[in-house]
Amino acid sequence: MNDIKLALLGSRGAGKSAVLVRFLTKRFIGEYASNTNSLYRKRLSIDGRQLNLEVFDPCSQQNVESRCILEEPVDWADGFVVVYDISDRLSFLNAKNVLCQIKEARMESCKSEADVPVCLVGNKQDLCHVRQVSEDEGRSLAQEHKCPFQEVSAAEDHQEISGLFTKLIRGVMEH
Ligand code: GDP
Repeated sequence: MNDIKLALLGSRGAGKSAVLVRFLTKRFIGEYASNTNSLYRKRLSIDGRQLNLEVFDPCSQQNVESRCILEEPVDWADGFVVVYDISDRLSFLNAKNVLCQIKEARMESCKSEADVPVCLVGNKQDLCHVRQVSEDEGRSLAQEHKCPFQEVSAAEDHQEISGLFTKLIRGVMEH
């Protein structure tokens, strides 16, 4: 497969766009006003394979109580990046909900129980002095869903974010 489609999901303000822009450009965009759905494209080489990456960044979701918010990306994407903010417990609860909903929606549309490639990102690690979610909680949630997990700071790191996206893309290629 040469085309890889990913979707970002998570609460509004968790830093989805900042994480994605950091991955794509190695830069931090402090204020990123987006009230429309955005689709980013990039050519990448991973393990010697040339890939066309498309990433869907839906205009921010307050929370994902409504299934319709998920329908579009769930049918479209090959893999998902679920982002929460470690300084915002509500965003973590929302990420939990999103992980369950991805699985359910995917099982309904594909009639398959195969795990969907997903990774969980605890963003804003630079705000760890005001954290509301421990790293262990993030790790256990990821273990429950058998997905890679990493705390990152879109404001400060590039390596960790890039490593996590690469892991997810490898997961999609092997899927
Ligand atoms: P989205 O709604 O999930 O796409 O969130 P944004 O990417 O628009 O980020 C929301 C706010 O959080 C913005 O003010 C960003 O500057 C800020 N932000 C994003 N990532 C980080 C981070 O790693 N650390 C800090 N301190 N702020 C961040």
